[in-house]
Amino acid sequence: MIPIIDSKRQYATVGNEVEKEVLEVLRSGSYILGKNCKAFEEEIAEFLGSKYAITLNSGTDALHLALRALDVGAGDEVITVAFTFVATTEAIGIVGAKPVFVDINPDTFNIDVNQIEAKITPRTKAIIPVHLYGQPCDMDVITDVAKRHNLFVIEDACQAIGAEYKGKKVGTFGDIGCFSFYPTKNLGTMGDGGLISTNSEYLKNRVIALRNHGGAVRYYHDEIGVNSRLDEVQAAILRVKLKYINEWNKKRREHAAFYNELFKDAKDIQTPKELDNIYCVYHQYTVKVPNRDEVHKLLQERGIGAMIYYPVPLHLQKVHAYLGLKEGLLPHTEENTKLVLSLPMFAEITEDEQRTVAKTLIECVELAKDKAMV
Ligand SMILES: *Cc1c(COP(=O)(O)O)cnc(C)c1O
Repeated sequence: MIPIIDSKRQYATVGNEVEKEVLEVLRSGSYILGKNCKAFEEEIAEFLGSKYAITLNSGTDALHLALRALDVGAGDEVITVAFTFVATTEAIGIVGAKPVFVDINPDTFNIDVNQIEAKITPRTKAIIPVHLYGQPCDMDVITDVAKRHNLFVIEDACQAIGAEYKGKKVGTFGDIGCFSFYPTKNLGTMGDGGLISTNSEYLKNRVIALRNHGGAVRYYHDEIGVNSRLDEVQAAILRVKLKYINEWNKKRREHAAFYNELFKDAKDIQTPKELDNIYCVYHQYTVKVPNRDEVHKLLQERGIGAMIYYPVPLHLQKVHAYLGLKEGLLPHTEENTKLVLSLPMFAEITEDEQRTVAKTLIECVELAKDKAMV
């Protein structure tokens, strides 16, 4: 059995350090918005190259409070993709705004930047590009379109911590960057966690108030906020893990390169493309294969933990039925939804395991082909 991710193996490398820090928090009596939270915010802002970082209790809250801080709400439209995790559009829905979907570029799985402008209306307030699978979007074009049309940019960098576009970390190009520390993310904690990055002092203060019941001063409340704080235990864990993120991301890239090598003669398996000037962090290593569902099933039977991210594009999900969108609206999104398959990928995976994954996938693609013919 080769899992898609093995959190226990990572724990084996940092567990001692983590346990020491967590024990200290438990004994300290300070559990919310304490010294670890503050220190982590400073350390990760420095890591990202962002002026400010504000911790929250999830990536979903980061997206939601980003929209709140920018006063995006009822009657507004927000441009994004349907080829992403639901949290991206959920946040738009939570503030009462409407998602407007742009198709993806099938080479990168990210927003097709050439199709953004056609979707802008007088109601458009913001663009949320998603750096899917750890691959940065084309931020030059996105920030240029946003500037010309006076739109905010909120980057969904939940899958892309440490990824770079032209030497600069994602999450620092737009007005706000959103990150998740869900356990399986490249920088994952042992519970839920999230973060907003921004260079704006105004937005930083807005988010600090929103995460703590809508007021900067305790028991004085200026607006309806939420309770969305990263607790001290999670902050302490993340401070330990942040020291290793560059090394882990580097290993993921090496594993991706090795998979590419193993698949180089397998003409039915399309490996991920990495564009120039991009440092992809391979949150997922996602290939495209024919007869994908059958291949997926065969892999599962053989103990290979492959996954489909995501099986139904968001414009066709029941939650968005009220938008009245039909199949055919986003051809690349719909086609790629039927082809993608993410393979085991984590820093600690071994070359032997990768060889087994590759060999088994190549076999299963052939088997599925035979099956499709009869
Ligand atoms: C994980 C994820 C989120 C949500 O993060 P949570 O911490 O799970 O709330 C949002 N967008 C994308 C693209 C994600 O992968």
